[in-house]
Amino acid sequence: MPSKVYFGTARQSHLEAKETLPAKLDLILENLQIRQRVKDEMVVIKMHTGNNIGYSTIHPVFVRRVVQAVKDGGGKPFIADVNWDVAGAETRGYTQETIGCPIYPAAGPDEKYFYEYEKPYKSIQKWKLAGMIHDATFLINFSHVKGHPSCGFGAAFKNLALGCMAGETRGDMHRATHFDQYWFPEKCTDPETIKKIAASCPFEAIVEDKKQPGQMHLHMEQCNQCGRCLKVAPPGSLKIDASNFNTFQEACAISTSITLSTFDPKKVTHLSLATQMTPVCDCFGFTSLPILPDVGIFGSDDIIAIERAVLDATAGMCLIEENLPLVMEVHSHSGHPFQQLHGPLKDPYLVTEYGEKLGLGSRDYELVDILPLEKVERSALQYISSK
Ligand code: SF4
Repeated sequence: MPSKVYFGTARQSHLEAKETLPAKLDLILENLQIRQRVKDEMVVIKMHTGNNIGYSTIHPVFVRRVVQAVKDGGGKPFIADVNWDVAGAETRGYTQETIGCPIYPAAGPDEKYFYEYEKPYKSIQKWKLAGMIHDATFLINFSHVKGHPSCGFGAAFKNLALGCMAGETRGDMHRATHFDQYWFPEKCTDPETIKKIAASCPFEAIVEDKKQPGQMHLHMEQCNQCGRCLKVAPPGSLKIDASNFNTFQEACAISTSITLSTFDPKKVTHLSLATQMTPVCDCFGFTSLPILPDVGIFGSDDIIAIERAVLDATAGMCLIEENLPLVMEVHSHSGHPFQQLHGPLKDPYLVTEYGEKLGLGSRDYELVDILPLEKVERSALQYISSK
């Protein structure tokens, strides 16, 4: 049976509050039966409270409604996020007074509260799951959908994969992208050619390693796989390869599977808000212009289904190219819009394919529009005499 994904469109038929997204979130919470499921549960609402002066994370109006639903149902809600984001959350409007529950650093204020899980993957041996996530009995994964420089886009998976791990594991996940060799120094020993390779990249994505002259370092985040460097590099000296880019997505799927394994599957739900979708993630600490039109809000108990529903809903949209920061370029106009921007090797669907192999859910979903747009009849214009 397909997994249900409840959806509320960002569009309205009429100029009425009941057709706007906070009201549609209420309908989604009703359909997910949150109030009936949380009695006496310690409910962690995992969200990103943003950083610095970003203002496109989930607005407190939405968070408060989720918190209230949990309280109505007799649960004990709290928000959890990484320590440095929680530290300044009040400057972006998230306080106990505004959202109605406490906000805790997921792995403690100094990132020392975690539980270790052994699951070797490339250069990663142990995964440090944040203690406050581990200790909760019910998980509401409330994500903001946006672009992401490491994997094309970030939403339900990314919110758990990075946000539920302690800092050391977050770093390990990024470093694992360098596990598969992409620079072969024996094929390029000329220092001048190395300089030319670095100079060929308009995004400073490939640089000579400061500590190891002769070694090149690829910043996967900045790289949109344009191939300019490959035209300068001697044959066989440099690979811009899917294996390095895919590693981040597979690591995200593994990390998410560890987090979800600590909850009863009936005690997990996911909400994704697809508005103000910026080119890069909310960790950057600022808000850029949106690169896609607002879509709406989604809710499901199935992380694969909700992630794919969001991706399918945005797949046919056109990038708002005039909103892109001038330093970014569109790689091509084929593939998903997030891929068009971040490069073909950052396929946003990939994390769901890895997640599906790990048994985290199903790509087979049914989209349920909780308040479809009504057809608006317009009366015929009357002839108005000028006399
Ligand atoms: S493929 Fe393009 S973006 Fe990536 S490192 Fe080479 S020149 Fe830079």
